[in-house]
Amino acid sequence: MRVKVGIPRSLFYYRFASFWEGFFTALGAEVIVSDPTNKRILDDGVKSCVDEACLPIKLFCGHVMNLKGRADYILVPRFTSISKNEYICPEFGGLPDMIRHTLKGLPKLIDTEINMRKSDRGGMKAAIEMGEMIGAGRRRTIKAFQLASQAFRKDQFHTEFRETVQKGENCPWLESRKSENRPQTECQKGENCPHLKSQKSKNCPRPKSRKGENCPLCVGVIGHPYNVYDRYISMDLLRKLVNRGVEARTIETVDEADINRHASGLRKPMFWNYGRMAYGAALHMAESGEVDGFICLTSFGCGIDSFVNDLIERHIRRRYGIPLITMTVDEHSGEAGFNTRLEAFIDMLQWRRQNEDHISASG
Ligand code: SF4
Repeated sequence: MRVKVGIPRSLFYYRFASFWEGFFTALGAEVIVSDPTNKRILDDGVKSCVDEACLPIKLFCGHVMNLKGRADYILVPRFTSISKNEYICPEFGGLPDMIRHTLKGLPKLIDTEINMRKSDRGGMKAAIEMGEMIGAGRRRTIKAFQLASQAFRKDQFHTEFRETVQKGENCPWLESRKSENRPQTECQKGENCPHLKSQKSKNCPRPKSRKGENCPLCVGVIGHPYNVYDRYISMDLLRKLVNRGVEARTIETVDEADINRHASGLRKPMFWNYGRMAYGAALHMAESGEVDGFICLTSFGCGIDSFVNDLIERHIRRRYGIPLITMTVDEHSGEAGFNTRLEAFIDMLQWRRQNEDHISASG
């Protein structure tokens, strides 16, 4: 009988889903992913986890409980680093211990440490350990790792987001790309582009590339993938934007080369992997002129966001004057208040686009 490996649909599932599923399937295991987040999963997580933890960690506990009795192993890796010379949030490092001591009656945990701070070889080392835990030989594990890595390189952009956009009724994001008559933005016009010219001057003003009347508003959504793509926790933010005729960009839609180019402009390299990604992506969206505003989606109590979002906000305001709103979610957040703030923000962006040439809408 095939070994069943349970994967919580939470935290790094939203970044490495295609890798994990490909890896364990190639090892001959049956992969069981926990259900999409719902009220019961959230309530279970909140009741079982320590109060001090942030919302995504509580939610992770709920997803582990959802897999109880359905799998022989549950994947709870001890993430330390996923990129050279960078770390990730320490909450990930303590996760296997927290799960083991708070939730009882669980199957075996695959709690291998993943540490790629010194080199990518840390990933292979972790994979071999995981393979051993579920009884797979070394050669088969190496082959599975290579296959999963290939699949991951092809599909890093999370499919759930793609579906969110594609299923949106009257999706302007897709329509605007299908239409051959899509208004050309000033940035696409090459030589005469005022944005490109202005970038050469020291006092680069905010690019005015998206002011065509038929061009939909576009918002950059900055947040951890496990907040942004979890439709329950994000209160379906991406779909709400699409259904209001607003395009969305996320960190994952920006090329890593562009992210690194902007992040390298910081005086010191970022300590956190997420910090580099979020800062570089936000600055790229602002400089390219593709967004009218930013929404920083954060969970209450997140130490990394309190630092990174503040840095992004100061640099975006100072250099580009683009509006930015921080939307904080926790287990008590009400959807009505969230919607009101979102609608007010979109109205302000619309008003600003129509009127800012006459009266400054942003102070
Ligand atoms: S980065 Fe923030 S939201 Fe994510 S696990 Fe750490 S504290 Fe929680």
